[in-house]
Order: sequence, then structure tokens, then C-alpha cells
Amino acid sequence: MIEKINSTDLKGRLVIVTAPSGAGKTTIVKRLLASDLPLSFSVSACTRERRSGEVDGVDYYFIGKEAFEDKIANDAFVEFEEVYEGSFYGTLKSELQRLWKDERIVLFDIDVLGAINLKRQFKEQALTIFIQPPSLDILVERLTRRNTESEASLKKRIAKAASELTYMDKFDKTVLNDDLERACKEAYDLVVAFLK
Ligand code: 5GP
Repeated sequence: MIEKINSTDLKGRLVIVTAPSGAGKTTIVKRLLASDLPLSFSVSACTRERRSGEVDGVDYYFIGKEAFEDKIANDAFVEFEEVYEGSFYGTLKSELQRLWKDERIVLFDIDVLGAINLKRQFKEQALTIFIQPPSLDILVERLTRRNTESEASLKKRIAKAASELTYMDKFDKTVLNDDLERACKEAYDLVVAFLK
């Protein structure tokens, strides 16, 4: 598949994967990164605490609220959102420049509003893929099972996920994640088609 891609056309391209929390987006993003496609992950800056197992500069740049506010003031973000109350996440301009310099296609795992914002800015340069969970019940079950959140935070995530599902038709493509293998293959094929 990969040899069909014209490498001179890759510069400045973005692949944006978005979904309600718990839809399986991060797993699909990891599989795309492990594939033969020339994708590199856009590491976002965020203000939340690092979870155990997360690595600064790999999963996120954990910069704290003050530094985040400084970067907003210095117009350092391509986009940012208060994804959860009190927790900010954003894509740094410097991150895009770094990855494009290396001739990579930038792959994003961001929330729906961030994805809509990036698509508005980058238009045909960007492919947006919305990962659709099989149902809201399954989404709630996955979020609950993940068990990384306090009860209050879990409730907020569920409410947010329900509202995010209503944005589904705003994206270039939708992948139903009822079967992970099939969803990963579909996402891969969509990226290949976009890069051709
Ligand atoms: P967490 O990592 O705290 O579980 O979830 C963070 C949420 O914020 C995910 O839905 C993730 O896709 C989203 N997110 C991560 N980085 C960014 C970013 O740079 N911009 C926006 N708008 N959302 C982000």
C-alpha cells in the first residue's frame, strides 16, 4: 500500500482522529502509528497531572497551567481547548513545524472541537476521522472499566461523550468501532486513500 503514496505530497498534511472519550480512538491512533504509514504523533501540551505510565514529551508535554497560559498569551497554539473543566489541552505550532520539517504526516488524537477547529484552518490538507462507538451504553461501560478517573470526573466524561456524539456529521469520515480489527483496517485504508 505504502509505495502508492507520493512522498513529495506529504508535507503539510494532517490526519486527525477524534471521538468521544472511550470510543477506542487512542488504540486506533497507536495502531496507525505502528503501521507502515509515514505518520508521527502530534504531542499536545496539557495542564493535567501526568498519570502513572505516561511519559512527558511522549504522551503529552505536561506544562502546568501557568506555562500554558503564557503560551496562549504568546500565540504559541494552533488550537487549544478546555477539554475538561480546569484541564486545558492544545497543539503547539512548534510541534507541527518540528514534524513537518521531518517530512512526516502529523497524526492527532484530539477532542471534537479541536478537530473541527483544525479542519477549518487546514481544509484539504487535513483528513478528519470520527471514531463512532457502537452505542452510548458501551461507551459508558468502557469509561467505567478504564477506572482512571474519580467518580465526579467519570460523570463529566460520560456527559461530555454523549454531547460529542452529536458532532458526528461534522467530519470527513466516520469509522464505527464495533470490531477493533476492522476499525483499524478501515482507518488505515482511509489514510492511504487520503495520501494517494
Ligand atoms: P486524557 O488524555 O486526559 O484522557 O484525555 C484528553 C482528551 O483531550 C482526549 O479526548 C484527547 O483526544 C483530547 N486532546 C488531547 N490533546 C488535545 C489537543 O491538543 N487539543 C484538543 N482540542 N484536544 C486534545
